[in-house]
Amino acid sequence: MQSLLRTIYNDVKPLVGQGKVADYIPALASVDPNQFGIAIYSNTGELFQIGDAEVPFSIQSISKVFSLTLAIKHYGPDMWQRVGREPSGLPFNSLVQLEYENGVPRNPFINAGALVISDMNQSRFASPHYAMSEFVRRISGNPELKTDLKVADSEYEFRHRNAAMAHLMKSNGNFENDVEEVLKSYFANCALRMSCVDLAKAFNFLANKGFCSISNEQVLSEQEARQVNALMATSGMYDEAGSFAFQVGLPGKSGVGGGVVAIVPNRFSVCVWSPALNKVGNSTAGVAALESMTKHIGWSVY
Ligand code: GLN
Repeated sequence: MQSLLRTIYNDVKPLVGQGKVADYIPALASVDPNQFGIAIYSNTGELFQIGDAEVPFSIQSISKVFSLTLAIKHYGPDMWQRVGREPSGLPFNSLVQLEYENGVPRNPFINAGALVISDMNQSRFASPHYAMSEFVRRISGNPELKTDLKVADSEYEFRHRNAAMAHLMKSNGNFENDVEEVLKSYFANCALRMSCVDLAKAFNFLANKGFCSISNEQVLSEQEARQVNALMATSGMYDEAGSFAFQVGLPGKSGVGGGVVAIVPNRFSVCVWSPALNKVGNSTAGVAALESMTKHIGWSVY
């Protein structure tokens, strides 16, 4: 496994720094694009890593998997009346479908869907961000995880597009709580800082039939874990989900901080990170690294 990581590292090195670091808020625009790390956590409890795998970064949209998991734990299947399970084929922050689909977002991984999920969690928890970060600290085995308040504040200052989605959903009756409060929780979740090692560990439960071997708990049922993986496979990489399935063939979830998590069911969870993004907002070197990985292990879910 360690030699596989070295091979991937060498394959992808020339791509590191290619693309553009997220610059929609100043706090993210200043990240050094020339960083690159990979961590793999196996279902047998082995950790492999290379490069900047212990450097914490802003997890951004990867947090959507954690908030979805919390919502699934606390709501029954009724939750799927408020958010769909279809790929959107549109950028993650698009508003257009919401208007003609009556305020019901296509899936939990586009921003509108994640906002509905955050609204559900707001109704269930006194402090949804506290609940989410405690949960993630537990399943990653890292009690030191921190939220970058500068990033969260900056996201809130430039919140208008996400606020527009939330208000539109509220006008359609698909939003229960105060928009500003939900936006604050959503941004705080996005601003959690984790390394590749933290994320590879935190995603163990999705590779392991819903059971987290780090905290020793059944996080989701086997069926629910399979369903989250299916959603990641169809919608986890925004409007690049199709080519990611084609080239990599694994459930994956990206964030504009440059992290990408992927699941090899029943074997391992992997996180790659490199901050420079391609046109749709996925890490250029990160996607290439996962492509190289599945090519070398000769395995995909398809
Ligand atoms: N905080 C970002 C936003 O809401 C998350 C987007 C992402 O990582 N794709 O726009």
